[in-house]
Amino acid sequence: MSFLELLQTVPAAFVSACLILGLMVGSFLNVVIHRLPKMMERAWRQQCAELHGEPSQTSTHPEGEPALPAPYNLIVPRSACPHCNHAISAWENIPVLSYLLLRGKCKGCGAAISPRYPIIEAISGILSAYAAAHFGFGPAAAGALLLIWALLALTAIDFDTQLLPDDITLPLLWAGLLFNLFGVFTNLQDAVLGAVIGYLALWCVYWLFKLITGKEGMGYGDFKLLAALGAWLGWQMLPLIILLSSLVGAVVGITLIVALKHGRHIPIPFGPYLAGGGVIALFWGPTLTQGYLQLFAMP
Ligand SMILES: [Zn+2]
Repeated sequence: MSFLELLQTVPAAFVSACLILGLMVGSFLNVVIHRLPKMMERAWRQQCAELHGEPSQTSTHPEGEPALPAPYNLIVPRSACPHCNHAISAWENIPVLSYLLLRGKCKGCGAAISPRYPIIEAISGILSAYAAAHFGFGPAAAGALLLIWALLALTAIDFDTQLLPDDITLPLLWAGLLFNLFGVFTNLQDAVLGAVIGYLALWCVYWLFKLITGKEGMGYGDFKLLAALGAWLGWQMLPLIILLSSLVGAVVGITLIVALKHGRHIPIPFGPYLAGGGVIALFWGPTLTQGYLQLFAMP
């Protein structure tokens, strides 16, 4: 029996393989979450410098901050401790396990490693395994994994920087349309409508809010993220995603304001809630929408 046949015929093998894959991808997502915003900032600074006719090196980093090494992307340079520059070896880079073995401390200088790294790896691993169990071996599981990983990266980046990078949201939208070209999650018609309506729905809310209050309630990244979710799951899922994300967003927002005296003027990113709503809709959307359609159906 080949490895592929094993994955195809033994569900437990497929779920375990996706768990391990999800943990490893989670480790890479940590790199994306950490580096992509810095890479974007560097690109913006270079563009600004070029626009002002300055030599690009002088203003590629904010004053007082250490410059980024010359080649800086998702592969190069190798991961190192931000405190002592101790290069992280392969065995210190095993998802979740290394953090536990090192007891959350850098081997070089003993500085605490943020628990966020193993948490992201664990969430990625668990959701990947769940997707494998839910969809079974096939293109739907492959698509679900891609969608989950992208949403996880977007959630953490939005949480850190209040940005949803186009470098993730736009390819995610195209990928959703591509999967549904073959009807993996919904038909192509519903996917295209989902992308268009998803974008326009939040665009309208944004302009209404801006006209009434004069403030910006959300960013264009949020529109693109909902468009991507519409492309993956079809327009029928959009009301559910908006409802779920608003509910969770309201609960978390009010808790933050009340419990932590989080100022009301400090923006609370909306992307993580949209992403959460998207994951719920991916797994339980058909069941939930059927439930609420039945609720409103005439007897
Ligand atoms: Zn260190």
